[in-house]
Amino acid sequence: MREAGKIVAEALRVCRALAKPGVRTIEIDNAVEALYTKYGALPLFKGYRHPEGKAPFPAVTCISLNEQLVHGIPGQREIRDGDLIKIDTACKLNGWCADAAITIMVGNVRPERRRLVEVAEQVLQIAIEETGQRRWWSEIAARMQRHVELGGFSVVEQYVGHGIGRVMHENPQVPNYVSRDMRKYDFRLEEGLVLAVEPMVNMGRADTRTLGDQWTVVTKDGLPSAHVEHTLAITANGVEIITRDA
Ligand code: MG
Repeated sequence: MREAGKIVAEALRVCRALAKPGVRTIEIDNAVEALYTKYGALPLFKGYRHPEGKAPFPAVTCISLNEQLVHGIPGQREIRDGDLIKIDTACKLNGWCADAAITIMVGNVRPERRRLVEVAEQVLQIAIEETGQRRWWSEIAARMQRHVELGGFSVVEQYVGHGIGRVMHENPQVPNYVSRDMRKYDFRLEEGLVLAVEPMVNMGRADTRTLGDQWTVVTKDGLPSAHVEHTLAITANGVEIITRDA
């Protein structure tokens, strides 16, 4: 998983370098695909079939702009100054998976949008720090949720993180909030567990809807969203960020 994680981290570094005004999102996707090919890594998003029987996902990255939260399809859209670009990608190498996402701020991003991204990154940092300290995931989820809400933003509940290993989506589900319902599925943080933790933070309300392309998820109120993700392993020596950028 460490080897797959290094490739995902490099892919996101390539994305960061490319994400400039005037660049089409498909160009970024093509660069990531070329990187996976170079390393002989299997892209996990391309051809991914949604359990509800949607069309297979056509690209190796999800690229979602501004009010799009997740699962955006790369295409001819050009990046503009002030955009928030969420890029999520995952690959498999020698049978093991890694998954990560970043939010890139392009050029002159308005202060409130900037703060949204900062809060999302802080929330992921809270998860990283607390995962080595707590026994139950709900303790961490509660801290993540509190930080978002203190910042005046909302936590997306419709999409959650996941266990990851031989396949990209494994149990358990890893929510970024707590509720009575989620507590039923609470899990203990034990050595050997590997989680893809991926908070999504909305500037406005938490509600989302999916566009007609069957994939792109947007905020219902049209306000921007931020999304960041790392694959985290619980080891005997504490938390290891599998997708850490070296
Ligand atoms: Mg994920």
